[in-house]
Formats: sequence, C-alpha cells, structure tokens
Amino acid sequence: VFLALEGGEGAGKSTQAALLVEWLEGLGHDVLLTREPGGTPVGAILRGIVLDNGTGELSPRAEALIYAADKAEHVDSVVLPALAAGAVVLTDRYVDSTLAYQGAGRDLDFAELESVARWATSNLRPHLTIVLDIDPAIGHARFEGADRMESEPLEFHQRVRRHFLDLAAADPDHYLVVTGGGTPDEIHRTIREAVEPLLKQ
Ligand code: C5P
Repeated sequence: VFLALEGGEGAGKSTQAALLVEWLEGLGHDVLLTREPGGTPVGAILRGIVLDNGTGELSPRAEALIYAADKAEHVDSVVLPALAAGAVVLTDRYVDSTLAYQGAGRDLDFAELESVARWATSNLRPHLTIVLDIDPAIGHARFEGADRMESEPLEFHQRVRRHFLDLAAADPDHYLVVTGGGTPDEIHRTIREAVEPLLKQ
C-alpha cells in the first residue's frame, strides 16, 4: 500500500506521519516512512540544493528538474523495492507537492510539469493521498522553519494550498482532505478510517 501525505508548511505532516506509522506498526505491518525531497542519499544532497542552496534564486525549470531527479531516485531505490517487499510506504510529499509548488507556486506549465513528474516516478500513484489542509497564515505561525516559508509571499502559499485542494477535488476516490481545526488525535482518527479499508486489499 502506497500512501502520500501532502500539505503546506505547519499543517502537521510530521506529527500525523509519526502517529500513522505507530498505528500501522501496531497492526503488524512493515512500514516505511520516507520523504521528498531527501528520501535517499542523493536526494539529501538535492534537497540541500533546492532548499538551502545559499546561492539565491534558482531558475524555476532547474528547480523542477532537481525535484524530478530526487523523485526518480526515491521511487527507484526506495519506494518500489519497499512496496515489492510488502511494506506500507508512507511518503511525506510526492508528485502533488511538485504540481502545487512548482506548478501553481512558480507558474510553470502544468501539463509539461506533470509529464516530467510522472516520468520521473514511472507513473507510480499512491493508493491514497492525505492532504492536511491549513490556512497558510496559521501554518506560518506554527511552522518551525518560518524563515523558509517567508522566502515566498503569503499569496504563493495560498496558490499552493488551492492547488492541493483542486487535485483532491478532481479525484476524490484517491484523496482524503483533512481540514485543520481538530486535535492531532482527532485528525489521526480521521486518517485511520480512510487508510483501514486499504489494508484489507
Ligand atoms: O515539509 P518539508 O520539509 O518536506 O518541506 C520541504 C519544502 O520544500 C516545502 O516547504 C516546500 O517549500 C518545498 N518543496 C517544493 N516543491 C516540492 C517539494 C517541496 O517547493 N516538490
């Protein structure tokens, strides 16, 4: 079973990932928690280049290609082998982050970007993508890396949020949108209810 967690900064992805892993392991599943960018040794270097390169702005296309390289390495060397071994794989960010941040955020052509991202991931799609939805202004207040978030205007984060919601609305069978407001435990229970039926397949 392949699960993706998506959402803006400060939405609580790390908290929910930890709770989900704990629950799945308690049920006896092998679970792999991984992330993009940075889920492989090469990916960790690529993450450094795109997130704290210290060299100022990257060209949006160069940035998108670095994220694509991170994905290709991640899917080939981590995600596919773990799925083949029968693990439940939970990735903290996946293709939708690219569509939202590089597409809606940076304004690259969606169709082109999507075809690069699908190629990079061999068109591997999650059984379920969990979108933790949060108002960027609230996320900002909760987010530890607030500086990083401030490198883009609030309006950028609003476009990103909108895009996650649009992707979910277009394919409701493969998405769970959890809107903020609940306690971490309430949100976790909502996620469990959506994941449980997938484990029986
Ligand atoms: O939450 P996480 O630590 O994974 O955040 C990584 C950051 O990388 C995000 O805050 C986002 O700004 C950025 N990102 C991006 N495009 C992606 C994935 C992540 O811009 N495809």
